[in-house]
Amino acid sequence: MSTENIFPVIKKFLYSDHEIFLRELVSNAVDATQKVKTLSISGEIKHDGQNLKVEVIADKNAKTLTIRDNGIGMTADEVEKYINQIAFSGAEEFVDKYKDAQIIGHFGLGFYSAFMVAKQVEIQTLSQKDRAKPVYWSCDGSPNFTMESGSKNIAGTDIILHIADDSLEFLEEDRIRGILNKYCKFMPVPIQFGKKKEWKKADDAKEEDAEQEIEVDNIINNTSPAWLKKPADLTDEDYKNFYRELYPMTFDEPLFQIHINVDYPFNLTGILYFPKLKNNFEVQKNKISLYSNQVFITDEVKNILPDFLTMLQGVVDSPDIPLNVSRSYLQEDANVKKISAHITKKVADKLQSMFNNDRPDFEKKWDDIGIFIQYGMLTDEKFYEKAAKFSLLKSADDKYFTLEELTEKVKETQKDKSGNITLLYASNKEDQHTAIEAAKERGYEVIIWDGPLTAHSIQQLETKNSGIRFKRVDADVADKLIVKDEDLPSALNDEQKTTLKTELETLVDKQKFHVEFASLSPKEAPFVITQNEFMRRMKEQSAMGGGGFYGSLPDSYNLVANANHPLFDKVLNDTEGTKGKVKQAIDLALLAKGLLKGEALTAFVKRSYELID
Ligand code: ADP
Ligand code: MG
Repeated sequence: MSTENIFPVIKKFLYSDHEIFLRELVSNAVDATQKVKTLSISGEIKHDGQNLKVEVIADKNAKTLTIRDNGIGMTADEVEKYINQIAFSGAEEFVDKYKDAQIIGHFGLGFYSAFMVAKQVEIQTLSQKDRAKPVYWSCDGSPNFTMESGSKNIAGTDIILHIADDSLEFLEEDRIRGILNKYCKFMPVPIQFGKKKEWKKADDAKEEDAEQEIEVDNIINNTSPAWLKKPADLTDEDYKNFYRELYPMTFDEPLFQIHINVDYPFNLTGILYFPKLKNNFEVQKNKISLYSNQVFITDEVKNILPDFLTMLQGVVDSPDIPLNVSRSYLQEDANVKKISAHITKKVADKLQSMFNNDRPDFEKKWDDIGIFIQYGMLTDEKFYEKAAKFSLLKSADDKYFTLEELTEKVKETQKDKSGNITLLYASNKEDQHTAIEAAKERGYEVIIWDGPLTAHSIQQLETKNSGIRFKRVDADVADKLIVKDEDLPSALNDEQKTTLKTELETLVDKQKFHVEFASLSPKEAPFVITQNEFMRRMKEQSAMGGGGFYGSLPDSYNLVANANHPLFDKVLNDTEGTKGKVKQAIDLALLAKGLLKGEALTAFVKRSYELID
């Protein structure tokens, strides 16, 4: 490809993200100052390594934007080599690679990205090397450039952009500040943009002088962000302060954080915060920012980090995350995959150590982080393996168990005929209150499991743990699942049951209710409504998937009559007025299940008042 058509192509393909030119030029300037530090230490240049800085200067009248640094600078040879040859060929390579691709997203194109917004670019530079001469370079976007002796008298580089007419937004103060804030907020040397007013004492002020409003350099960045410090040097308050720095608009405090600090087998630092998630797991997404050596890359980490990790917030920084590539490339990048896996491991390890070291505190946090852990277990096999050891189930009495602890506790009392351990859960503490209380009465442990992922989590646990079955607490009466109660003799014989069944069927909608008997304690309710666990799950799943075979089936329930309840003696002996009482008892069961509505409810209320009279 000839260089002639590079700039139109650069413009066209990068249109969606013109603003990154500033990230590229500022990070080049920062690199130049870092080189001064390195070379002054090695003695190659004479410099104390102090007062290095970058300045961004907008001049609306001249329509120029200047990025100035007092870094290493360039000699004429270096401009020839790094700008004319290397940077140019880099741009060419880029265009070659992407000219046919439909890619929108983040690109870094280095120095030449300046031509996305500038019709002309000038360089004034003076190298830090002994006896260096200033160099001037100018290019208007055509392959012809000018190089001659320059005017700079302090070592460093000015990159001067003559902003194109269609890009004048990049001269607006707010726009520039916004871009710097996004990409450069944590770069390692001070970046100045304009001035700001501050109340303080003048430098030559005396003790008794009052503070006055003084103009000072406006430094937009924090050069030593918390994630680069040693965890041992940071207090909990430091972490919270850094959180506020990252999310000035968020009022919630994070629950806790994980400080990642690895230098082998790759370099990875960062701080991940656990927000208070409660049961919503969508709202918080896209709050992790990826950095490469303190240069912001992206906060759209979907498909880059495992999905469940995107519920967290914070910063991940690694020089191994490539800067100059597209998002789709990032997903495929081997380093990025390794980093993702490592972060997953770190998060699991941290949770495990919290679980081990302070179980009560971990339990206190559970309501806020449970959904994250469940989601992680469902979507990431590796995480499941680790999290199974600290993932908790919360009982109706606010006790917390791991699955292992719970099965150990109930293995004798909650076993069904086939020897499966039956774990009872309620998905709604209010709606299923009666059933929960009844189960507790029998001495069963009931788990409260009410998040949006419940159905999926249950299915996963059943698949992974053979011999364990979950049943909703209002599923087929608990006594049928559990050996203990099955031994209760029934007060009714088969003939009586048949008679009674026919009688009861006249009182309910036969299409909807299947009448059956259970031998419960005489003290328990005469009727209870249950729903087949399998059918209910299937219907719920079809509803989520928008219909399907099971979704088209009508709701069906069991009307379970407690064969040992004294009421049925009376029915069989046809005692006066029992039919009304039976109807009333059935309605009470329906009411407890939230199924008594409309006309039936009105009739029930009326009948109840009559009974009071
Ligand atoms: P990269 O930064 O990936 O090397 P760039 O296209 O951004 O690619 O820059 C090309 C080269 O130009 C840099 O490697 C550096 O040698 C030189 N350069 C660019 N900007 C500056 C600057 N402000 N000071 C000194 N050298 C610079
Ligand atoms: Mg660069």
